[in-house]
Amino acid sequence: MQPANFASSSKNLAMLQPENSQPLAVIGTVAIDAVETPFGKKDKVFGGSAAYFSYAASFFTPVSLVAVVGSDFPDEYKGVLQEHPIDLSHLEVRAGKTFSWQGSYESDMNSAKTLRTDLNVLLEFNPQLRFAKAPEFLFLANVDPVLQMQVIDQLERPKLKFVACDTMNFWIGSKRPDLLKVLAKIDCLVLNDGEARELTGDFNLIRAARKIQEFGPGTVVIKKGEHGVLLFSGSRFFALPAYPLESVFDPTGAGDTFAGGMVGYLAKTGDLSFENLKRAVSYGTMTASFTVEDFGLEALRRIQLPDIESRLTEFKKICSF
Ligand code: AMP
Repeated sequence: MQPANFASSSKNLAMLQPENSQPLAVIGTVAIDAVETPFGKKDKVFGGSAAYFSYAASFFTPVSLVAVVGSDFPDEYKGVLQEHPIDLSHLEVRAGKTFSWQGSYESDMNSAKTLRTDLNVLLEFNPQLRFAKAPEFLFLANVDPVLQMQVIDQLERPKLKFVACDTMNFWIGSKRPDLLKVLAKIDCLVLNDGEARELTGDFNLIRAARKIQEFGPGTVVIKKGEHGVLLFSGSRFFALPAYPLESVFDPTGAGDTFAGGMVGYLAKTGDLSFENLKRAVSYGTMTASFTVEDFGLEALRRIQLPDIESRLTEFKKICSF
């Protein structure tokens, strides 16, 4: 049994612990990125799929972060995670270098071009989970599907109520058989339009989503960057535009932030009905709209839950007719 390692100074902790809140865990990357956009270039940006996810989800509910970093991981980045109720008991520090990704965006801000992926300490990561309170909600953020499966295998159904997963072209291309095994075990896959096409070989996103459902997950969420998101659950369908922004500075992490907002809201409410999935997708969309306004987690660090709520109120007016 390990005590939750939440920072006592968390500015968001006071408004958490809602009544229906279910324990939520995420596995994914915690990274040192290098990003180039038409508006600027920055090395040593704190990122990683699980870093964005956990920071975003913890606006809604506490999160346990399962990840590995190297001995080069700056204390300053750990301090950023400690601003929110993120349990770092399963953040392992290993000798070696932290996972690192370098990407660039050209005129199309919807898709990153990967220039470099250094797996580093991720290659030796073998998470052994010992939760004080077993998670009922789990997010398998973008990481090697072999690691995603290792985490699923250590948690038990029916205790585990909702497992969602993300992936990307890097893993679809290099670990497809492992990824298909993961898909057979999950409830929800969150991926972008290009990845859905690559995974299924179908250009049409409606047909692609149906094919993904046949791989296992009853719910599929397809992100289309600035063009919004499609939600498929059983035979039901919902579509939402993105929040309209005049300037998108750096889209890195938008997908992971979206997933954090969505799954964080689901875990907070404990409600998996289709109506609540729609609300969760809307919260994910709002949370991600902040991330793209600055490098890394910087824009998210400047906001609190009421900022997400007020953007949602404005967004509802834009969408209703
Ligand atoms: P996104 O939300 O898709 O923009 O995710 C961006 C984050 O994904 C970056 O901070 C990267 O560190 C991380 N990332 C990039 N490539 C990979 C990969 N192959 N596996 C896991 N995480 C990755």
